Amino acid sequence: MDYILTTDLLVKRYGKHEALKDVSIKVPKGSIFGLIGKNGAGKTTLMRIISGLQEQNKGTVDIKCPVIGALIDTPAYYRTLNAYDNLKIQFMNLGLTSYDDIPKIIEMVGLDIAGKKHVMSYSFGMRQRLGLAIALCGFPDLVILDEPVNGLDPQGIVSIRELILKISKERGTTFIISSHLLDELARIATDYAFIDNGVIIKQIRSEEMHSGSGRTVRAHVTDTSALCKTLDDNNLEYEITGDDELTITGDITLSELNMLTSEAGCELIEFNYVDTSLEGYFINLLEG
Ligand code: ATP
Repeated sequence: MDYILTTDLLVKRYGKHEALKDVSIKVPKGSIFGLIGKNGAGKTTLMRIISGLQEQNKGTVDIKCPVIGALIDTPAYYRTLNAYDNLKIQFMNLGLTSYDDIPKIIEMVGLDIAGKKHVMSYSFGMRQRLGLAIALCGFPDLVILDEPVNGLDPQGIVSIRELILKISKERGTTFIISSHLLDELARIATDYAFIDNGVIIKQIRSEEMHSGSGRTVRAHVTDTSALCKTLDDNNLEYEITGDDELTITGDITLSELNMLTSEAGCELIEFNYVDTSLEGYFINLLEG
């Protein structure tokens, strides 16, 4: 696997508080990498360090591309200028001498409707779009977006989703995105890192997370090995997930499971469906 970014054992302290604890992530090139965690988990801190806006106390960040674009916190813009002139300043900051791409970027993020309006008269959503446009200047290979759809209306959310997918597909751009809208993130992310209290608790590819997905059933039984044999005989996929617990993949009903356990000659003690949505996965992870 080719990685565009790796962090190794990053530590960030604010006074005595350790906001990042030995954070190591590997971001595959071309991925849409979802960073998920509760409020205060350390997502913004990690993104700021990756973007060079903040310095870590320990650890390293290795980025394999020359420029990165970032939308973190409130986007930086000039209130008394329009979108074009704001982007022109960003182009100049990046040392770009041709401004030909500016109208294209403005159109991509849907700000062409704003025309010559100054940014101070923009709505919140329009400012978010401008922030995204600034992050896209120069079409960097790696773009970091902290809560990019925060505060957007439903149509805005869809258009930003489509934009990210389009850029990812057409240019192979890698995105690192944090969002509390997990259903939304699940529509585009190829990879996830889950962070809790400054610790990466899991990094996983989306396909791995959803592998064999469908409904998943967790069953506590009196004799796991007997049930394993019956499940094998019935060509059902399962995993032993505890002393007397099996997690079975597939849309199995309670009565079917009762039949399987009686065929195995054991008893079903407890049965529940495991939520395979991103939100469910996250909650299950947090609950250990
Ligand atoms: P949210 O989802 O609410 O944006 P987050 O995951 O982005 O949260 P961070 O903003 O990275 O979390 O904060 C991680 C921890 O570090 C929190 O406990 C926060 O209070 C603390 N923190 C962040 N910035 C500072 C700062 N400048 N000074 C002191 N503490 C800070």
